[in-house]
Amino acid sequence: MKSSELETMRKSFNTVKRRSSSIKDSPSTKRLTERVREIKKYSIEHNEELFGQLKESFKRNDIELKLAETSGDALRIIDDLLDEYDATTIAKAKSNTLGEIKLKEHLNDKDIDVVETDLGDRILQLKRTDNKPVHPTGPASHLNISKITDIVNDSLDVNVNPEAREIMEVVRADVLNRLKSANVGISGANAIASEEGSLVMVHNEGNISIISLKDLHIIVAGIDKIVPSLEDAMSLVKLETIFATGNFVTSYMNVISGPSKTADIEKKLLKNMYGAERVVVILLDNGRSEATAECLYCIGCGNCVVHCPVYNAVGNEFGFNNYLGGRGVAMSKFIEDDETCYNSGLYMCTLCGLCTLNCPVAIPTNEIIENMRKLSTDVGFYPKAHGVIKDNVSKNDSPY
Ligand code: SF4
Repeated sequence: MKSSELETMRKSFNTVKRRSSSIKDSPSTKRLTERVREIKKYSIEHNEELFGQLKESFKRNDIELKLAETSGDALRIIDDLLDEYDATTIAKAKSNTLGEIKLKEHLNDKDIDVVETDLGDRILQLKRTDNKPVHPTGPASHLNISKITDIVNDSLDVNVNPEAREIMEVVRADVLNRLKSANVGISGANAIASEEGSLVMVHNEGNISIISLKDLHIIVAGIDKIVPSLEDAMSLVKLETIFATGNFVTSYMNVISGPSKTADIEKKLLKNMYGAERVVVILLDNGRSEATAECLYCIGCGNCVVHCPVYNAVGNEFGFNNYLGGRGVAMSKFIEDDETCYNSGLYMCTLCGLCTLNCPVAIPTNEIIENMRKLSTDVGFYPKAHGVIKDNVSKNDSPY
């Protein structure tokens, strides 16, 4: 990242820190934090059992469930669904899981227009190069208004002034215009309640509502998103919101428990009144079954990267794909392999533990990284300089 981008990112992070400091320390947030830690621990330990219950709940709710062992499996399922709908344009919401399977790159190769509906993500999409997000909920926090104005003017061939409302209106009009021909929407989910078979999605812009109105709504989520009940899912997204934005709630919280339907005419069941006629959920494993359990406690708030000294110094080169910072590095070992983990910044981490101190679910990322370094060394991935010291110790009983 450029130094000017890092500076803008740090300023944005400081705003989040200031906004969230009092709310994060309130007694009610502390109670919520304890509760969510228990929910996540229980959910990961009982994942198979909850998955069994979820299958039944989805069946009852008329939600189609597909399992994807790998990114490739998920993409194949999506391809088949898009073929069925002759989709040429799809409406997409922010999702780390969709970033993980590289959906946009895959569909762009097939000439399918994937339109980001979140403003920050859309700006990054219009940027075209060097457009990796820097925060899970504030993806474009590193771009200042003058840079964003240039991106929008160049890519949309318009002439907006560097004024936030003007930019927002131009991007919104362009997105809505493109989405006129989209009959498929695709999103992730923040949490999935197994008892009710409901998917919870939080957002501020109202874009998920647009996506859920398309004929087919595809939802891709990791198996780690399953929690026992809707109350648990609500607790989780509330805590995520507090730590991601410094607010108690987002403007919108969509709870999707099935396709759109009505039985208002002689009790005859009709689908597709306003919303999707079909809801398909793709649950993705992609290494999660093998992952260190605590890595899967993550609720995606991004507070770890806001406080990480390495991330604040180097930005999103510390992390893997859309999974930023130390926890992202750890996940890369399970999603990809030891080499990817090493290249994602396994040795960049200072092991200071600030991520753990600032993580609402207390993921011991520094300890996980330390342990992974030992395992990585065993399979030959360590910095060259460390190798020289290791060889000197074996040969000379001294590091020199
Ligand atoms: S590791 Fe913790 S702080 Fe970082 S995104 Fe996940 S829950 Fe939030």
